[in-house]
Amino acid sequence: MFAFHESLDRVDLAFTDRHGGESTGPWFALNLGASNGDDPATVERNLRAAVSALGGDPRRTHLANQVHGRDVHLVTAETDPAAPAPEADALVTAEPGAVLVVRVADCVPIVLADDDAGVVGVVHAGRKGMVLDVVTAAVEAMRALGAEDLRGWIGPRACARCYEVPEDMRDEVARELPTAWSTTSWGTPSLDLASGVASQLRAAGVDVLDLADDLHVCTIEGEADYFSYRRQGVRSGRLGALVRVRG
Ligand SMILES: [Zn+2]
Repeated sequence: MFAFHESLDRVDLAFTDRHGGESTGPWFALNLGASNGDDPATVERNLRAAVSALGGDPRRTHLANQVHGRDVHLVTAETDPAAPAPEADALVTAEPGAVLVVRVADCVPIVLADDDAGVVGVVHAGRKGMVLDVVTAAVEAMRALGAEDLRGWIGPRACARCYEVPEDMRDEVARELPTAWSTTSWGTPSLDLASGVASQLRAAGVDVLDLADDLHVCTIEGEADYFSYRRQGVRSGRLGALVRVRG
């Protein structure tokens, strides 16, 4: 169910793996996205199971229609979880009980939290989101809610040894974000999305923990445990990053 799960004084956060859900075939088993051909009702049950395992109320789950942009969606007491998901790649809230979820397959999932202030956020950052610096937009939105002492967790994603890109793309990205420059294990140009995102978070004053420091969390290499768009294509399942302030 969870590749990583942590409970702080006020905040619960987790990153899912592919185990513990009801989906079959390429989506086996805990697929959290329905844009890939999986049965929407099954995906809904998987989402509910993951949110419940976090201790959250599935009826208070907030999702985003992710578009590789820089927009941050603020969830308040007035936000209706049943309304259509907003186009955004980050969700932030100071509302106790609201569960925030972003979904990924190779892109970088990030959880942000100020445990004392009770302000949390989740971010989806692929190559485009990293170039747009969506994580800093999320940090700014959380500071506006009163966050001061922010911690960030970077979850399962494609690693730099696997994430091959054309050389001109690597050079263009690295001009703005040198820490993202990397090389695959077979010697071709690649991007280190997690390092790029981590450097953006640190520049924004966030204390960053990359799960890859403790766990093997490459989605492309980890077929037994993770979904991967690069490995599975358009039918890839989706992993989730979840967070809530206990309500
Ligand atoms: Zn890898």
